Amino acid sequence: MLCQKQQDLDEMVAEAKKEAKKGEVATYIPALAKADPNILAVSIFDGASHCFVSGDSEHLFTLQSASKVITLALALMDCGEAVVFEKVGMEPTGDPFNSISKLEAQFPSKPLNPMINAGALAVSSLIKGETAQDKLQYLLHFIHRLSGNKHITYNKEVARSEYETADLNRALAYFLKQHHIIEGDVNLLIEFYTMQCAIELTCDDLAKIGFVLANEGRNHEGEVIMPYEIARLVKTFMVTCGMYNASGEFAIKVGIPAKSGVSGCILGAVPNRLGIGIYGPALDEKGNSYAGMKILELLAAHYHLSIF
Ligand code: GLN
Repeated sequence: MLCQKQQDLDEMVAEAKKEAKKGEVATYIPALAKADPNILAVSIFDGASHCFVSGDSEHLFTLQSASKVITLALALMDCGEAVVFEKVGMEPTGDPFNSISKLEAQFPSKPLNPMINAGALAVSSLIKGETAQDKLQYLLHFIHRLSGNKHITYNKEVARSEYETADLNRALAYFLKQHHIIEGDVNLLIEFYTMQCAIELTCDDLAKIGFVLANEGRNHEGEVIMPYEIARLVKTFMVTCGMYNASGEFAIKVGIPAKSGVSGCILGAVPNRLGIGIYGPALDEKGNSYAGMKILELLAAHYHLSIF
């Protein structure tokens, strides 16, 4: 039975990998341009002791925007819904992840949701800590609890590379500061945000984080890592905004709460069933992994994973 499952997964990975040829790795963060576009790895965790894996699953990659799900959960746990949603809305945008345009069109000028960069910057400004390092250590501690892996840290080269080129994110943050959505030092916020995005892990780690979200906030040992209500709320954002301006099509074709990052990772959470971690760095024009989305589509069809 297990052999059959492994064979099925390997076949789906081989099929999905063909999609990678259509895409390109992200280059606007120079350090990400070094990624191998032909890699595809998937890890699936159902709460049993081992992850079910296929492809280059030991490969390390950075979280990028998948970190937005985790900072949102942490900010909600620390500050509560009232404070968080005073700074960020709950609606999908239909715009690219780094777009600035809707900020000017909205009154008050708060970002539409926490899964786009503007919204994530507002959420990251709520993470506890005096310095960027304090905030990072606090966030890493939460990620260690979510994944069960205390060795997860961040990739300094990727963080520095993004920090040096993050002019658009700086512009978003200055705009938000001017409109009193964020307070304090913008450079400190960008330093923390770029380190947060550079947190480095494997597909197994990502699958375990997804499992906690899928399992109503509890890890596979039954320990409560976040309240049920926050896991529910975060998964809802993953459905409506997790794949940026491709979220609608993804909900129809796949139907799994998921969050992508420009490194090519995708964090998936199938409610009450599975956590999924994927890495495939060749991206489409919206910043989602081509092969990653394909493998999720194949998995969803094969195992009936759509929540709809
Ligand atoms: N660090 C990236 C940025 O802010 C994250 C974006 C993403 O993964 N889509 O541009």
